Amino acid sequence: MVEQDYYELLGVQRGADDASIKAAYRRLAKEHHPDRHNGCSDKEAQFKAINEAYDILKDPQKRAAYDRFGKAAFQNGGGGHDPFGDAGFNGFSDIFSTIFGEFMDPRAQQNAARGADLRYDLELKLEEAFTGVEKTINVQAMAKCERCTGRGCLSADRCASTCKTCGGIGKVRAQQGFFVVERGCPMCRGSGEVITDPCPNCQGEGRALAQRKLSVKVPAGVDEGTRIRVAGEGEAGIRGAANGDLYLFVHMKRHPIYAREGTTLVADCPVSFTTAALGGAISLPGIDGSTIELKIPAGIQSGEQLRHRGSGMSVLNGRGRGDLVARILVETPTRMTSRQKKLLDEFRETETGEECPAAKSFFARARDYFGG
Ligand SMILES: [Zn+2]
Ligand SMILES: [Zn+2]
Repeated sequence: MVEQDYYELLGVQRGADDASIKAAYRRLAKEHHPDRHNGCSDKEAQFKAINEAYDILKDPQKRAAYDRFGKAAFQNGGGGHDPFGDAGFNGFSDIFSTIFGEFMDPRAQQNAARGADLRYDLELKLEEAFTGVEKTINVQAMAKCERCTGRGCLSADRCASTCKTCGGIGKVRAQQGFFVVERGCPMCRGSGEVITDPCPNCQGEGRALAQRKLSVKVPAGVDEGTRIRVAGEGEAGIRGAANGDLYLFVHMKRHPIYAREGTTLVADCPVSFTTAALGGAISLPGIDGSTIELKIPAGIQSGEQLRHRGSGMSVLNGRGRGDLVARILVETPTRMTSRQKKLLDEFRETETGEECPAAKSFFARARDYFGG
């Protein structure tokens, strides 16, 4: 399957501002909404794709990552990303910039030496996402070489001499079809210099693979799919060039009681049929450690929801909390003693039909239907 570019999907230019992205999304979402197409699977897939695209492009951080890495920024697998490697082609404009980009873009040379951005998948408990948490993570990545302190050589004087392949320009020319194409020099990787006496630990790169522990702060309110940028904690750059960034991708562990819908915590609460009929109370363990008492009004039905305001999740980058919602599931008894059955038999004998108005009205309609 061909993956479609998010900008193309929404029919906007790469540089489009937030307002026009939002407008384009609204128009397309309306047009492709499954309700209007009776579950036609093609339209539904398109609707999903539009939503996925908007989800990325509306968020400045995700959009920046997408602009640099394409969808690879959001795919599983971890590890570093080569900014030039897996961006993929997206139509003519990208092919053009791939061929001409390196000498048209003054940042390219600098970018080539910059360390790659890293992705780290971080799994959190609901309680941790509620309070926010400081986590120590192990990162295995290119780090500044300790032996040469990132210089690339051990000698006291100048490490480098002019690259013979490109004569110090950092670029080489090659004929490609009709074009003379300039590329970054493969020998010196565009720097114009080669290391004369390379450090044996890092082979002159000034960086080497290392394992390090890193303490990261996760703010309260994060959710599945939240991405946190930790500036400068990605791969080390080549010979002292800037480090890449580290992106934490948040994943949520399942909670035994609560499902999460944004900032709302939802619990399915089975309630005995007697409690549902007569009323009562249930208590739930709050996500903050408190106990939440919920009053069950007499006559509550299966599927009804009880809302406890302000007992939900914390709001990311905001104040206050969402709500807690208990979804009531009335449970019909399946294991009864003979005495209990007898009591229910007695109850049934006294029934007039007025106790359960919905059932009464349903059977009245059914009778009319057969009768008419
Ligand atoms: Zn070294
Ligand atoms: Zn060179």
